[in-house]
Amino acid sequence: MFPQQPTWSNSRINLLQRCPRAFVLRYGLAQVSRNHERGEILSIAFQIQTPWILLHQTIREVVLDYVEDHVNGTVWSNSLIGLRFKMDFEKAMRMRNRLIERIQSHNHHTSFQEKRPEQHLIDMGIETCITFIQHPELQNLLAEGSIKRIGLTKPTQYRKWKIYSAPDFIHHGPKGNSLIKLNLYSLPSRNNRERQAALTRLYGNLDSTVVLFSLKQKKWIVNRITPMNVQVQQSLDLVANDAEKMESILSLVGRNNDLSLIPLADSYRSCMHCNVRFLCPSQHGLEKAKAEQRALMCR
Ligand code: SF4
Repeated sequence: MFPQQPTWSNSRINLLQRCPRAFVLRYGLAQVSRNHERGEILSIAFQIQTPWILLHQTIREVVLDYVEDHVNGTVWSNSLIGLRFKMDFEKAMRMRNRLIERIQSHNHHTSFQEKRPEQHLIDMGIETCITFIQHPELQNLLAEGSIKRIGLTKPTQYRKWKIYSAPDFIHHGPKGNSLIKLNLYSLPSRNNRERQAALTRLYGNLDSTVVLFSLKQKKWIVNRITPMNVQVQQSLDLVANDAEKMESILSLVGRNNDLSLIPLADSYRSCMHCNVRFLCPSQHGLEKAKAEQRALMCR
């Protein structure tokens, strides 16, 4: 049913934990039924991001381009950073609005609303880019050695699984390699940072240091971690465990994409911001949909 190579990423396991049904729709049905109307609508719905997420995605793109140009000898001024951020964020918002129009053209009633880029988000994005670029840790890395951008879509391989946990940059300096990763949405807990660093080390060598820049309340917090082999192995064991759960849930999809055995979310909170609620039985109430599912399973 789902022949693609088993894949692990943080976003996949997070979605599975929030809702198995949403996970199957996104990473199962949306992919295998791309060429049918329902699959196309699913893919479009999952591509629609909130302005808050687009803000942070744009920050990432702008600072990565800044670093790339810096390595090539071009240093941007603060006003160029501002112009670039504004232009990219406005473009991302226009693309978001076009995706919403495409869904609406299929006559689906969704809660998505077209929005214009708000000035306070533009100001926040520019300020965040500039504070990252001026951060002494980044300035030290840029001052010596070489730095290379890595695509976040570059996977690494472990046994039969493709794992996505790439750093944003690799820095080669006199004291060894540093793998630099940005956490734009929060400061992960200590355990999660160690696990993230252990998987990111797969892109370096045995003594690489992972440098995590995490954004918390508009401030960048920097953590340097040098994962030990035992931590890398423990993280890979957890990945194997997660990947088995993903395969097991995908295996419950029945003939003709029957989803009746795929559990719905545990909590209504998961449904509140779900992109595909308009295609889910829970759109008329999660508890009612779960009761109907239980009744069908008891027949
Ligand atoms: S609406 Fe709720 S139950 Fe349905 S897919 Fe989304 S999160 Fe899961």
